[in-house]
Amino acid sequence: MSTITNHMPTAELQALDAAHHMHPFSANGPLGKEGARVITRAKGVYLTDSEGEEILDAMAGLWCVNIGYGRDELADAAARQMRELPYYNTFFKTTHVPAIALAAKLAELAPGDLNHVFFAAGGSEANDTNIRLVRTYWAEKGHADKNIIISRKNAYHGSSVGSASLGGMVGMHAQGGIPIPNIHHINQPNWWAEGGDMTPEEFGLARARELEEAIQELGEDRVAAFIAEPVQGAGGVIVAPETYWPEIQRICDKYDILLIADEVICGFGRTGNWFGSQTVGIRPDIMTIAKGLSSGYAPIGGSIVNDEIAEVIGNTEFNHGYTYSGHPVAAAVALENLRILEEEKIVEHVRDVAAPYLKQKWEALADHPLVGEAKIVGMMASIALTPDKASRAKFASEPGTIGYICRDRCFGNNLIMRHVGDRLIISPPLVLTLSDIDEMFERILKSLDEAQADIIEQGLM
Ligand code: PMP
Repeated sequence: MSTITNHMPTAELQALDAAHHMHPFSANGPLGKEGARVITRAKGVYLTDSEGEEILDAMAGLWCVNIGYGRDELADAAARQMRELPYYNTFFKTTHVPAIALAAKLAELAPGDLNHVFFAAGGSEANDTNIRLVRTYWAEKGHADKNIIISRKNAYHGSSVGSASLGGMVGMHAQGGIPIPNIHHINQPNWWAEGGDMTPEEFGLARARELEEAIQELGEDRVAAFIAEPVQGAGGVIVAPETYWPEIQRICDKYDILLIADEVICGFGRTGNWFGSQTVGIRPDIMTIAKGLSSGYAPIGGSIVNDEIAEVIGNTEFNHGYTYSGHPVAAAVALENLRILEEEKIVEHVRDVAAPYLKQKWEALADHPLVGEAKIVGMMASIALTPDKASRAKFASEPGTIGYICRDRCFGNNLIMRHVGDRLIISPPLVLTLSDIDEMFERILKSLDEAQADIIEQGLM
C-alpha cells in the first residue's frame, strides 16, 4: 500500500477510513457511505480540511483545545521529554520528574486542600478511579456498605463501563450491559426542558432536594458520594439555576457524602475561573480532570483528592493504576500547557475580556425566532431551539431533528457547532479574540437563518 498522506485526494482517504476505521459515537455504516470530513491541520481557532476549507472550531475539538491549536511550545516539550525519558511507570516504588512536577503544580492550582493527584489517560479512566477510590475510602473507614454513588440523568462522565454507568445517558445505558450496580441517578437541573410552572429558583431547589430525598431513601450509611459536572457539558450545556449548587453543598455536608466535581470540561479556565467548582461556589472532595489539562495535545487526566481522602487511601494498598498513569510525555505537555495558561493570563482573558463580550452577543441570540433560552457560563454556551418561546414548546418532530438541521447549516458555513437534541452548543478555544467572536457570530446567524428557512420549507415549524 502506498503511503497515506494529507496530499491524497479526499475520496481516497474517506474510502480507506470507511474500510478500516471505526468512529466513536457514530453509525459507521452510513458514515462510511457519506464519507467523514478529513481534517488535515489547525492553527489558533481554525481547522483546515482536505478540501482546503478553513473551519472555525467553536467546540475546541471535544471541549479541550483551551489554548488553541498550533502551539510549538507543546510540541517542543513533548519532543524534549521523549528524548530524555519517553516512558516510565509510577508503580513499584518509582517516580519521575514530569509526574512530580505536574502533581505539585495541580496541587497549587486546585482550591482548598485538593493536594493529591492520581493520574489517568483521560476523563473516563479518572472517573473509574473515582468509583474505586470513594468505595475504598469508606471501606477503610469501616463503612464498606457506604458504596452507592449518586449521579444525574443526562450527565456525561465517560465511556468506560464504570464512567458510563456514572453518566446518565439513556442511549449509552441501552447498550453493553450497564450501569454497574450501586449507581443511582436523580433528575438534572434543566429548567428549560423540565421546569414546568416553577420559577428557575424554585426548580433549582427542588432538583437539589432530590439528592436529599435519595439519600434518605437509600440510607445515609449507604451513600458514598455524589458526582456532577459544575455545568453539564455533553448533556447540552445545562446551567443550573442559582439556587441549586448551594443546596447540593449543604446536603453533602449534612449527610457526610463526598462531593465529586467532574471538571473534565469545566476545568482549566473554561468557566472564567481555573475550575468550574469556583464558579458555582462548591467545595469538592475530589475533582476529575482531563481535556484542558493538556489542551488536548496529549491524552492525560486524573483525580485530584483532598488531604483526608489521600491519607485514608494511603493506609492501604490501592490496587488500581494504568500503564499510562502520569505518562512522562503527557505530563510534560500538560505542564507546558499550564505554564501558557498562567503566563499568558488566559483565564483572566476569559473572565475579563472574551466571556463578557461573548455573553452579550450570545444572550441576544434569544431574539432569533428559532431560539428560546440562551445560556452561557464563561466560554461554554447553549441555545434551546423552540417553535414557541413563551410556552418553551418542543418541536413536534423527532427530538434532535431541528438541532441536526441547524448543525448541518453550521458545518456548511465552516463553523463547528454541536447539537444535543434540539439544543445547539459551543465551547470554543479560550484564546478566541473579539474579532474571532464577531466572525463566529456572522456564521452562527447566517446558519440559523438558513436553518429556519429549511425548517419552514420542510413544514417542521
Ligand atoms: N467527564 C466529562 C464531564 C466529559 O465531558 C468527558 C468527555 N467528554 C469525560 C468525563 C470523559 O473523558 P474522556 O473522553 O477523556 O475519557
